[in-house]
Amino acid sequence: MARDYYEILGVSRDASQEEVKSAYRKLAVECHPDRCPDDKEAEERFKQAAEAYDVLRDPDKRRRYDMFGHEGVRGAGPRTFSTYEDIFAAFGDVFGTGLGSIFGDFFGGGSGPATRRTRGASLRCEVDITFEEAADGVEKIILLRRAERCETCDATGAKPGTSPRTCPACNGHGEVTRSQGFFTVRSTCPQCRGRGEIVDTPCSKCRGTGLTSQEREITVKIPPGIEDSSRLRIPGEGEPGEHGGPNGDLYCFITLKQHPLFERRGDDLLLEVPVSFTEAALGTRIEVPTLHGLRTMKVAPGTQSGTILRLRSEGFPNVHGYGQGDQLVKIAVEVPKKLSRDQQNLIKKLAEAGGKHVSPRKKEYARKLKKHYGENKPRP
Ligand SMILES: [Zn+2]
Ligand SMILES: [Zn+2]
Repeated sequence: MARDYYEILGVSRDASQEEVKSAYRKLAVECHPDRCPDDKEAEERFKQAAEAYDVLRDPDKRRRYDMFGHEGVRGAGPRTFSTYEDIFAAFGDVFGTGLGSIFGDFFGGGSGPATRRTRGASLRCEVDITFEEAADGVEKIILLRRAERCETCDATGAKPGTSPRTCPACNGHGEVTRSQGFFTVRSTCPQCRGRGEIVDTPCSKCRGTGLTSQEREITVKIPPGIEDSSRLRIPGEGEPGEHGGPNGDLYCFITLKQHPLFERRGDDLLLEVPVSFTEAALGTRIEVPTLHGLRTMKVAPGTQSGTILRLRSEGFPNVHGYGQGDQLVKIAVEVPKKLSRDQQNLIKKLAEAGGKHVSPRKKEYARKLKKHYGENKPRP
């Protein structure tokens, strides 16, 4: 005598469709094969619940079941489910993607014949670029050794003129299934190692692997403004995937080579220019290198050491397109280290002509010193 469907799901006779659905979902999770491995009773409950749900979710079948019992749905159902996959295919909507994926993992990829397509490995390369190249963008040609599909055998691995035969153990699926009670568990075919094919006469070029190691030139487009230690992804330029899977990617790690004159500060470029103290005092014009040639700049009379002058838009373009950096020119005033007697005398005259304090900063310093300590000089 078959059990009552309402009883199986644990719902009342007037339960709503939503209640029926959630009761079934709850049972399906409880009897989940991951939770109850090798539990015959759980398996039976899982199967019965599926049958009950198949009838009670359908208003027409449910009405006939209510009126005539199991006899009422014979012929029109209930369906009997022989594998888990039948259940999942029928009621996938009940489980939702979350639970479906749990089941999918357990059964090696959900419903349908599984193919062992795997993405190829990613590769990496290092690229050094100059400041000028980083500013303007550049195309670099990278020499790369990577596995590629063998052209001699068209990646089949079989000697030209022969062809691989379908693996008899898995019928070309690359997987073998084994029954574990009510459920079916898949695993990679040991005979063909997942390829689904067996090569009897291997290609001599690739020794049957279908892959050969090739040296390739790959053009890498480096965008203007790229920063040091950036990583560029070049899709599809990695190793080929297995069994027709997609290629991996190539990752380019960019290093900005040191520049003899410039330093990078974000999108700005910093350059220190030495200026003699007489030039700084009297003012001068200096020639300044930029990434795009020489520029002439005016240094105003009385320019102090450490002053930063700005050349607008002579820095790096922002790599994300947010404008352009500047070139910062830092003035380094050099004090002469060796002076001739004549020069010494001239400087002494300069000091006398300007009074005791020739420098505005020194004057300010002396004022602060006096204010802080008064007339009493700090003791050593
Ligand atoms: Zn080959
Ligand atoms: Zn096989």
